[in-house]
Amino acid sequence: MTTKHGTMQDWPLNVWKLIDHAAINHGDREIVSLTCEGHEVRTDWRQVQGRARKVAGALRRLGVQQGDRVATLAWNTHRHVESWYGISGMGAVAHTINPRLFEDQIVYIANHAEDAVLFFDLTFVKLVEKLAPRLETVRHYVLLTDREHMPEETSLTLHCYEDLIAPEDADAPWTEVDENAPSGLCYTSGTTGNPKGVQYSHRANVLHAYGACMGDVLDIRSTTVVFPVVPMYHANSWGVPYAAAAVGAKLVMAGPNFDPPTIAKLIRQESVTLTLAVPTIWLGMLQHLEATGGDLGTLQRVVIGGSAAPRFMIEAFEETYGVDVCHAWGMTEMTPLGTLGSLSAEAMTLPRDQQLDLKCKQGRAIFGVELKLVDDEGRELPRDGVAFGRLLVRGPWIVGSYFKGDGGNILDAEGWFDTGDVATIDPRGYMQITDRSKDVIKSGGEWISSIEIENIAGGCPGVAEAAVIGVAHPKWDERPLLIIVKKEGASVSAADVLGYLEGKIAKWWTPDAVEFVEAIPHTATGKIQKTALRERFAGYTLAA
Ligand code: AMP
Repeated sequence: MTTKHGTMQDWPLNVWKLIDHAAINHGDREIVSLTCEGHEVRTDWRQVQGRARKVAGALRRLGVQQGDRVATLAWNTHRHVESWYGISGMGAVAHTINPRLFEDQIVYIANHAEDAVLFFDLTFVKLVEKLAPRLETVRHYVLLTDREHMPEETSLTLHCYEDLIAPEDADAPWTEVDENAPSGLCYTSGTTGNPKGVQYSHRANVLHAYGACMGDVLDIRSTTVVFPVVPMYHANSWGVPYAAAAVGAKLVMAGPNFDPPTIAKLIRQESVTLTLAVPTIWLGMLQHLEATGGDLGTLQRVVIGGSAAPRFMIEAFEETYGVDVCHAWGMTEMTPLGTLGSLSAEAMTLPRDQQLDLKCKQGRAIFGVELKLVDDEGRELPRDGVAFGRLLVRGPWIVGSYFKGDGGNILDAEGWFDTGDVATIDPRGYMQITDRSKDVIKSGGEWISSIEIENIAGGCPGVAEAAVIGVAHPKWDERPLLIIVKKEGASVSAADVLGYLEGKIAKWWTPDAVEFVEAIPHTATGKIQKTALRERFAGYTLAA
């Protein structure tokens, strides 16, 4: 007799099962946070799970319904993790808002999401006071602190987090929801047009957690001490608080602190083995270590994503500090991990220089993510490491549509999602981002990778940061303009930088001009803000 289905149990993949697992099997494993009150709080998975159940109970008491959105405007702390699991655990949707967005964008996002409750950190009291009259759906404001730190005077009607959850039962059951029900919501940074929401299902988050823990991915295990510097509002800290619970890793979080001395101190003090952040954080860290002669203790691996890590950065971490560097690529629409740059068995046998070439690429697809390159007509391009085209993705943790159907149908007939990135894939399967499709420089019908030039120029002595944009050219349509921020006190010239690039990039990729600026603008998630640079240098004239 044949049966239509397999004969295994139907065990819905709910995110609260991750934290239950951690509490039961790794209950004493620590969660260490720096908080907005200036304390260092040491707790563990057992306590955080109990308090998350209390959050769930408190939200039920406040009248929050299944599927409602509950927002957080908060740094990485144990209270944020508790709230996150508590919100999803009572069937609501944890909506992490990026506090670095412009005020109008925060208002737009909160109203669009129809957030019913807002949890926020002490740092944001003034901001929330200002925004509250414009937040159309928020019924309750919860300040993530204790009674002692509640503000004496405020225009807001506030719940104190610790008081709110105190009467609740730490053993109260979670709300059973379908594994395809929403558990989280995150808006894209929206460099053009309004931000769009990506609503993660329980299932997508749990599958992503399995994927993230794999050895060739983040390699998180119970013995790992993981420190996501990347904030929970930036694509769920790249899934780390879910993955850490899945295996019972020790979790370290820096609260509102992003300065290199605090991060370096935490890494050493907590014997961190794995940390993750965008390149700008690591740029600051390398400068700090260089200036102070400090080290990174027992740190084994730095995962860099969000933007490309330049070669000099990879070399500095590996050669000076003995820390393995691994690229991660993904996006909010991908929960967010898509590829990881860990070395394959074959790559391990290559000479160091070739290994570094591979490490500069964004890496190989994780099981659960399919990649495809196509040209502008949608024809598939070869995986030869040379042809570059639009990068499409497909898989169980890739977005199927934006929240409320914004943007209409975003998948092609075969279910592929266009990432908006332009990339190559080599025969070994290593994908390399050459640009965002809107940043690529089209010179005489050929494409120039702004990212590649930036990453090499960033390694020139005296250069603190480099950005490349296309500017109009009478003969070639567009040519690259190199924009440089000098290191403090350095006296690097245009000729020095162009000389440094010589032989490292194709001759016709050489920027036509170099401009020095005080600072390069960044987006709310730490990427170079090319739109602002293009506006600033609009009308820039290059000689024919
Ligand atoms: P976000 O959704 O804000 O995380 O932005 C996702 C975008 O960041 C991707 O589509 C890429 O353009 C870029 N990105 C993410 N990771 C990397 C990486 N490792 N190297 C280069 N670009 C990256």
